[in-house]
Amino acid sequence: AEAEVEAEGNLSQGILEIQGANAVWLDPVAVLNGAYSQYQVSYSRYYSRPSFGNLHSSSSSAGAACSEGNTRKRKRKKTYTPNEKEVLAELRHKESRSSISHAHSSFLATRPPLSSSKATMDSLSGNCPASQQLSTLADANTNTSEDAEVDFVRLAELWQAPLYELNYLRKSSQGAESDVRWCQHMESRATPLFGSFVEHEEEALAECAGCTFILPRNCRFLMSDVSHIHQLIPEHPDFGYNLILIDPPWENKSVHRKSLYPTLPNRQLLSLPIKQLVHREGALLALWLTNREKLHQFVEKELFPAWGVQLAASWYWLKLNDSGHMISPLDLQHHKPYECLLLGYLPGNKQAAYSDETAQEDLMSMRETVCYKAPPNKFVIMSIPGDHSRKPPLGSLLSQYAPGPHPVTGLELFARELTPGWTSWGNEPLRFQNLRYFHNR
Ligand code: SAM
Repeated sequence: AEAEVEAEGNLSQGILEIQGANAVWLDPVAVLNGAYSQYQVSYSRYYSRPSFGNLHSSSSSAGAACSEGNTRKRKRKKTYTPNEKEVLAELRHKESRSSISHAHSSFLATRPPLSSSKATMDSLSGNCPASQQLSTLADANTNTSEDAEVDFVRLAELWQAPLYELNYLRKSSQGAESDVRWCQHMESRATPLFGSFVEHEEEALAECAGCTFILPRNCRFLMSDVSHIHQLIPEHPDFGYNLILIDPPWENKSVHRKSLYPTLPNRQLLSLPIKQLVHREGALLALWLTNREKLHQFVEKELFPAWGVQLAASWYWLKLNDSGHMISPLDLQHHKPYECLLLGYLPGNKQAAYSDETAQEDLMSMRETVCYKAPPNKFVIMSIPGDHSRKPPLGSLLSQYAPGPHPVTGLELFARELTPGWTSWGNEPLRFQNLRYFHNR
């Protein structure tokens, strides 16, 4: 019980170091909630995928899947000769296997509190999603329909797309008079939804396409197709990014079949202007990868060399169910319970001189250049997965390894949510900012 209480305490920021292992347990909802003062991400909405329901009963089902996988394997052994890619994939898996397995057994020994109880708390304490409460706010000047989702990718294809605007509703805090003034001021700042940077300092509510969105403090985003990505290139490397997180829409049969989001061919990723985005003092780049061997080969041999990235470490995201078991057996051939995050460094251009000396001094006085440490290799992050393809929030874990000024200037490419202090870009960066994913504090 003592170990559990201690673990609960350490988990308040959402991240728990696992003693004796190169690993952490991460509660994504708790991490995300560090970004908001008036609202909280709802556990029940974060884990609303039907598969999460299945996971509830799966301490035994993981075992069942295990034996099923073994049986399949055993049957196969007699007749099946793996091809070259499968042999390489198996070798790659073997390299990661012991770190992942050790991290998981150490995690089980730590017995940290899992999210399931919190998800239940969400509903028991009447913390219904904020979109259902919004109708009671007298000054919410919107016709928000409860729980609606906006399909930004489809909206962007309509002829009316340039006419869509993001309208600020009110500051999210409930102060009265100052809010009205702020509101009037912000109303004049309605911004085109597509193709324009939206940037602001305070937590706020905004409306577009009949839905309400919560914008965390100090966030910046650009909603556009990849054909407009050049808008992200800073005027000068001093204004570049020193931490770049990328989760590309890799071509993938399952994503295609379920029409989850559009995908991009590898050749389009090769031409992303990564070098032009980098801060003068360099950048740490983190790239999410699926387990396809072909993709690993592409990244190592073509993509990283084309972007100028020097590989530094491989991290693993191990997906657990709410009983703490892996979502599938570790050795299952085509459905591993983990995904890979590759970390690499991009050199900066220290020679680049900035002509406006005053602005440069301002920059230097605000932020401090820190000595960064190299990231650990084979580091394991364990968490319960939410929506399809939704990755755990890793900004705070990654930032300690970023070169250049701190706090970091982060950039997330192909983002579906906003992070304070970061620029988020993609064709749907407001997706998980919809009020339906939050409840009031
Ligand atoms: N990291 C995200 C998360 O944790 O929720 C998931 C990103 S998902 C793998 C890839 C994203 O890229 C999707 O939101 C998809 O709509 C977006 N995308 C696909 N094609 C795009 C394009 N041509 N331009 C911009 N974004 C695109």
